[in-house]
Amino acid sequence: AKEGGRNRLQFFDTHMQAAVDERTNLENDLRLGLQTDQLVLHYQPQVDAAGRLTGVEALVRWQHPTLGLISPAQFIPLAEECGLILPLGQWVLHTACQQLRVWARQPHTAHLTIAVNVSALQFAQESFVHDVLAVVHETGAMAQRLKLELTESLLVKDVEGMIAKMKELKANGVGFSLDDFGTGYSSLRYLKRLPLDQIKIDQSFVADAMTDAKDEAIVATTVALGKSLHMMVIAEGVETQAQRDFLDSHGCHHFQGYFFGRPGPVAELARFWRDETQA
Ligand code: C2E
Ligand code: CA
Ligand code: CA
Ligand code: CA
Repeated sequence: AKEGGRNRLQFFDTHMQAAVDERTNLENDLRLGLQTDQLVLHYQPQVDAAGRLTGVEALVRWQHPTLGLISPAQFIPLAEECGLILPLGQWVLHTACQQLRVWARQPHTAHLTIAVNVSALQFAQESFVHDVLAVVHETGAMAQRLKLELTESLLVKDVEGMIAKMKELKANGVGFSLDDFGTGYSSLRYLKRLPLDQIKIDQSFVADAMTDAKDEAIVATTVALGKSLHMMVIAEGVETQAQRDFLDSHGCHHFQGYFFGRPGPVAELARFWRDETQA
């Protein structure tokens, strides 16, 4: 039994060591990937009640040389832990703003917005406001077309400092959306004070709203709350026509989800303006 115990211990040791090695490898790979253009931005359509494209959410992917296309769920947490989220976040912002500049030159795309996800560590940087405005400046993007997506988890500490940063960016035209609304630490007292333009109904509520009366109540309440606070409400994770109609009947008139389009390369969005010019 003693022998078996030691073997088991060795077994776990080996596996733990392997996990640590894999993590270190991935971290080094990501550092290199950032320097060698392996990251790509995909864009997911956001539409209004008429199905017209109003903007997109920028979602990062990693084209790994041997592992293939890696989803952000697999490397964003790692990037947050090792600090690489800072250069990564900067790259995402820069790439999105360059896209805004390209769109600004065409009348049929000039109105489109891009929503960029911001991590807590990024937002907490003293230089965050300056960094964002510098990118906007460098790229020649219109700040009014840039929307930053924050999550509630970001607002747990130093709320006053966070609000001050938001206000400064807002004064320069940058918009804010509260992502994954209702899934984190939400305080209506803070919500009231945040200069938000939009709240995003989390996909977990959208998924069950039609079958679960409690989720339906949460959707309806979120819409009412957004309206009374003069914020736009958008639902994410909309996968079916039935969900779209259900949300619409509850007063939510902006949507994002597979039903309208998956995240993809920018060229895939062209069908929206082709459709519109044909209409
Ligand atoms: P998120 O910000 O909540 O983004 C929405 C996620 O839901 C995306 O997953 C999107 O592809 C997925 N999604 C969109 N529509 C549907 C739908 O109809 N059904 C279902 N089942 N899923 C849908 P993705 O692209 O894998 O991103 C995962 C998370 O990674 C994001 O969640 C966000 O937290 C993070 N992330 C992505 N890009 C960035 C980035 O540039 N910076 C930071 N800090 N985080 C990012
Ligand atoms: Ca988001
Ligand atoms: Ca979300
Ligand atoms: Ca999420």
